Amino acid sequence: MSSTASAGGQPTSVVDRIRLAERDRVPFSVEFYPPRDEAAEARLWRAARFFEPLSPAFVSVTYGAGGSTRDRTIRVVGQLAGETTLLPVAHLTAVGHSVAELRALVGAFADRGITNLLVLRGDPQGGVHNEWVKHPDGLEYAVELVELVRSLGDFRVGVASFPEGHPRAIDLEHDTANLVAKLRAGAQYSITQMFFDVEDYLRLRDRVVAADPEQGAKPIIPGLMPITSLSTVRRQVELSGSQIPAGVLDRLTTAAGDGAVENRDEVRKVGIELATVMSQRLIDEGAPCLHFCTLNFARATSEVLANLGMAVSV
Ligand SMILES: Cc1cc2nc3c(=O)[nH]c(=O)nc-3n(C[C@H](O)[C@H](O)[C@H](O)COP(=O)(O)OP(=O)(O)OC[C@H]3O[C@@H](n4cnc5c(N)ncnc54)[C@H](O)[C@@H]3O)c2cc1C
Repeated sequence: MSSTASAGGQPTSVVDRIRLAERDRVPFSVEFYPPRDEAAEARLWRAARFFEPLSPAFVSVTYGAGGSTRDRTIRVVGQLAGETTLLPVAHLTAVGHSVAELRALVGAFADRGITNLLVLRGDPQGGVHNEWVKHPDGLEYAVELVELVRSLGDFRVGVASFPEGHPRAIDLEHDTANLVAKLRAGAQYSITQMFFDVEDYLRLRDRVVAADPEQGAKPIIPGLMPITSLSTVRRQVELSGSQIPAGVLDRLTTAAGDGAVENRDEVRKVGIELATVMSQRLIDEGAPCLHFCTLNFARATSEVLANLGMAVSV
């Protein structure tokens, strides 16, 4: 495998795609999760077909908490690779798997032509605050999985980064050292946990450059979630352990109103505006790519892209 190998003239590595796209416009990418039923599957494919002509740099597919979506993740990334022109990135988590199972999983992705992997430790079922229990024959930290994947072939590896610091990190210094260790182990880029304060992203970038200028030159791709529902974002934030700044939460709560059912139209307006303003600031600050957590919906992300002059809205 060559890092510049191309299908239809397009590079097949995330970093090459980003670098190529940067010449004329800041690229974007989208994140899907493996659907649980037929309706959700149809929604994912509607979103995939919507984004395809907009040429996102890549599309990533998550791996369910505790390793619960193994077969669905493999199937969906395989179909995206085989049936679309999108560049799929498979999330792969260590949690709940022995090393033998992880090797087999990497092989299953490779069999389907998937060479871009986002390598993670994974959260226990129920979220980041639940107790982490290492599989008896498994791995403790993501850096070990980066090393394992790299030893198995010429995979293009990305890792997670955390603008606010990982909730279980001792402090920001350790958090930065861990990210640098994952990059030194061979990861080519990182994608951040979703965040709502651009300053947190800029501080993370500064910390990595200060800790190791060589690794600091690797892309840190900001993860964004256009908010369309207060209850959904609250759930996402709780699962991931990130924070909604008080000012943002105030605006969303006011928009939601005090009725029994939140005013989704108003929340959505605020959420799209927040994501647009954050995206523009990130572009101005030189972010290498904008990564949107779509929850398998195209509309909110497309509205943000349209506001940025990057796509037409559905
Ligand atoms: C972009 C993105 C995508 C994600 N996708 C998924 C997904 O698909 N499925 C899923 O289940 N989860 C996903 N997650 C969540 C992720 O798995 C969790 O945040 C997890 O808790 C940490 O994963 P990690 O790969 O950063 O772990 P690690 O890098 O291993 O870090 C885990 C913790 O261990 C600490 N640590 C690392 N090394 C050491 C050491 N030597 N000594 C002491 N402490 C150490 C770190 O500071 C951190 O607190 C995603 C996160 C992001 C940002």
